[in-house]
Amino acid sequence: MQNTPNFIYDLHSHTTHSDGSLTAEELLTRADIKQIGALAITDHDTISGLNVAKQFIAEQQLKLKLVNGVEISTKWHGFEIHIVGLCFDQDNTALNELLSRQQAARKERAKLMALKLEKKGFAGIYQQAYELAGSDHISRTHFAKALIANGAVAHFNGAFKKYLGKGKSAYVAAEWVSIEDAVSAINEANGLAVLAHPVRYDMSNKWLAKLVAQFADAGGAALEVGMTQISPNQRAHLQRLAQQHQLYSSVGSDFHAPARWIELGRHLKLTEQCVPIWQHPKWRFA
Ligand code: AMP
Ligand code: MN
Ligand code: MN
Ligand code: MN
Repeated sequence: MQNTPNFIYDLHSHTTHSDGSLTAEELLTRADIKQIGALAITDHDTISGLNVAKQFIAEQQLKLKLVNGVEISTKWHGFEIHIVGLCFDQDNTALNELLSRQQAARKERAKLMALKLEKKGFAGIYQQAYELAGSDHISRTHFAKALIANGAVAHFNGAFKKYLGKGKSAYVAAEWVSIEDAVSAINEANGLAVLAHPVRYDMSNKWLAKLVAQFADAGGAALEVGMTQISPNQRAHLQRLAQQHQLYSSVGSDFHAPARWIELGRHLKLTEQCVPIWQHPKWRFA
């Protein structure tokens, strides 16, 4: 029942359909090698990888089960809060309309960020980011890669600290939807809304309590409790919040690219106090 070695769930991962470095096919191959039982591909504001993934699983006759997924950016009191949607009907109109809005907001933000970066001397950065993204679905990760390629910074963290992070010189706040709109669209599509990486928002416990309460009121289903880099104290705190609001618990590596410190399905165990999201009545594989 729990995330046992026999059946490993990883319900948060990225591909080249957003800012991941592996294609859907490469990610699935890796998940298969790592003996993942169920994988959710949760690209930022797009579900364009899901059909590709389904086709590949069928062709290769992989044992692994796919879970429909997406990670929606939302705007909340100056924070960017990520809501993972799982198990939804991918043809649902409300969800697809919301994702189109998000994609338009992302395009607009990319243009404005590129203008700021160009004024700082990075001529042609939009084109570079566009090529790295392979489309106009451009993430800050692609700008970070372009800045590294230009020698402006040595690594990702530097790019976010100096240019791309909240309040930094090339930061532009995107016109993301609200938490309520994201959760409603996921629920309309008969899916489950998960508050992604709740301990990564750099907010006080007081704000976090307020966020979880509002997310639960909006119809959210679960907190992402099983994460790779989380302290025992943080985990205990999230478990209490989940219990308090009768929320289920989800697990996800947030895998973006092969690296030493992160792996699909690794270190995602839930304790007995948590009710895993796969026990939710609406849980279903793709
Ligand atoms: P976006 O969705 O375009 O706003 O880009 C946000 C993405 O940038 C996140 O999903 C992460 O993958 C990445 N990111 C955010 N902050 C950092 C950071 N400090 N270092 C490296 N990557 C980051
Ligand atoms: Mn990302
Ligand atoms: Mn996220
Ligand atoms: Mn993510």
